[in-house]
Amino acid sequence: MKINEKTLDFSHISKDLDNISKKLYLESPEIWIDFSDKVGEKKLDEMVLFYASKFNYVSILKYAIDNDVIDINTPSKNKSYSSIKEHLLAVSRDYKSNNVYNYLNGDSESVQNDIEENINKSVELNEISEEESKNNDYFPIFLCPHCNTNILKSGYKVYEEINFGFSQDKNKSDELSRKRDSKVFCCNCNNNIDNVTTELLENICSIHNCKKCGKDLTQIGITEKIKMKFNEEDSKFIGNQKTYNCPSCDEELNQSQIKYFNL
Ligand SMILES: [Zn+2]
Ligand SMILES: [Zn+2]
Repeated sequence: MKINEKTLDFSHISKDLDNISKKLYLESPEIWIDFSDKVGEKKLDEMVLFYASKFNYVSILKYAIDNDVIDINTPSKNKSYSSIKEHLLAVSRDYKSNNVYNYLNGDSESVQNDIEENINKSVELNEISEEESKNNDYFPIFLCPHCNTNILKSGYKVYEEINFGFSQDKNKSDELSRKRDSKVFCCNCNNNIDNVTTELLENICSIHNCKKCGKDLTQIGITEKIKMKFNEEDSKFIGNQKTYNCPSCDEELNQSQIKYFNL
């Protein structure tokens, strides 16, 4: 059966979604979290289709449209475009995503091959990225000193103090002030984690920042280190291992960062 004629189901596009997710992780961890949540709920909204269009995964658009997951003729959340379709057309034009562009334009002749090609391509890509992911499947880590769970996975929380008082103007109890407490608590064991701020934890999640002290490496730079090994034969030190470190706390950069910074 021709791929173009059959209705794709979610399992056909999950690899493509996964590939986009990997790209987003390196590009922007915040968008990546949002994207992953939506994909996890199989919620293919305008944002998800935006990235499918940007990275030219036509199968995702076809799935969403064929299965009535979304009506692309409804208004776009981006006010510059009259409809979601117009928005996606613009994205695919800007990023030269020809398969998506042709598909949205109803050029079904070429879409047939494009989808097959794209599915093959995504399988290849997936194989490559699985290879890479041995080093690359990075998830930021901050261990709770009390229960040893990674709070970036299990969650952390802060408290906000809201003060109320009677307002004569409104003749009711009203909010007087609101102050967020700077203490961070582990969601797993509920203990307070000392010397940690939400800012530090956000920084640790960003690929630009040191995973230990949270400082922005694009601001403070990177130290290149060569470990010298003593060679008995000629009684000389030879450099055989190179690492990249944070100049502030000496933490080694992880594989995702090395790749991201093209080191
Ligand atoms: Zn804990
Ligand atoms: Zn550091």
